[in-house]
Amino acid sequence: MLLPFCGRMDAPARAGWIEALNAALAAHGVEVRALADLPPEARAQAEVAIVANPDPAELRALPALRWVQSLWAGVERMVAELSDLPITLVRLEDPQLAATMAEAVLAWTLYLHRDMPRYARQQQARHWQQHPLPLPGERTVGILGFGNLGRAAGERLLANGFKVLGWRRSGGEHDDIPVERGEDGLSRVLALADILVVLLPLTPETRGLLDEARLAHMKRGASLINFARGPIALEAALLDALSRGQLAHAVLDVFDAEPLPPAHPYWAHPDITVLPHISAPTHLGTASRLVAQNIAAFLAKGNIPPGVDLTRGY
Ligand code: NAP
Repeated sequence: MLLPFCGRMDAPARAGWIEALNAALAAHGVEVRALADLPPEARAQAEVAIVANPDPAELRALPALRWVQSLWAGVERMVAELSDLPITLVRLEDPQLAATMAEAVLAWTLYLHRDMPRYARQQQARHWQQHPLPLPGERTVGILGFGNLGRAAGERLLANGFKVLGWRRSGGEHDDIPVERGEDGLSRVLALADILVVLLPLTPETRGLLDEARLAHMKRGASLINFARGPIALEAALLDALSRGQLAHAVLDVFDAEPLPPAHPYWAHPDITVLPHISAPTHLGTASRLVAQNIAAFLAKGNIPPGVDLTRGY
């Protein structure tokens, strides 16, 4: 059986994905091809497509389509562009992705905890000065978004001795980490966190969540790590909070526009670490194996995995 791959990416990246997917799907009698390389009868029959930031026009050209399997965890663009199609949007929920993100959150939390931006500045100035080092247990890390990635990050931080607080929309408790909900819960997390980690999906509710008022509610001198989506933290509010010392430092992996434009003030800002969206890249091998399992279950039993809730937006 031939299945379409629809993704807006450069040719080498597309070839790499198709190779990895075919390695995982060969045992199930499935061959994946770029949509342009699919014969007309296979297009007409395709009930499932594997997608990565797909061009909506490509999916609209598949009349039998019932669901798409995304290779990415974030789905805001698919929700915006495809929600009128009568199909199920399945996002990637890969434990390896969560482990990779947890590693990134730990790494950059330690960067802030160990005062690395300040020591880098001191080195530039040939200035020798030691500063007190709090214990990890004296630092609270707040995690906004306590889903697949947020939970894994929280558990990793806890194992490294940090105090951790989570904030989620409606999901349940965690055995070892206090979890807050709602606006009051958010206020408590903002007021307590020395380091605030954002791992929320971008939805109408989370867009602009970290605005001037909420940043002002944070502990003075706290730091921010945004590994989720740029528009969750308002750029002007963030720059203002940093300039006033309300925030000490921001580690940003995600931006309103990516790549970050060369003239953007973040690049040269002394209190901002700019990362080029690298905190948790999808791993071709583990993601392809998960996708293969989902597709094999669909072909064998007609099971479509749970899809994105279009009303919630994630
Ligand atoms: P997920 O499992 O769906 O978790 C999302 C979490 O956010 C859940 O805990 C959810 O609450 C919470 N949430 C959603 N809307 C909320 C609201 N209005 N108020 C409070 N909490 C809210 O998603 P995930 O797999 O952890 O991924 C999170 C995001 O990370 C993705 O959407 C993507 O944008 C980003 N990401 C970034 C990278 C990178 O490399 N930078 C890589 C992968 C993913 P409930 O638990 O109550 O539903």
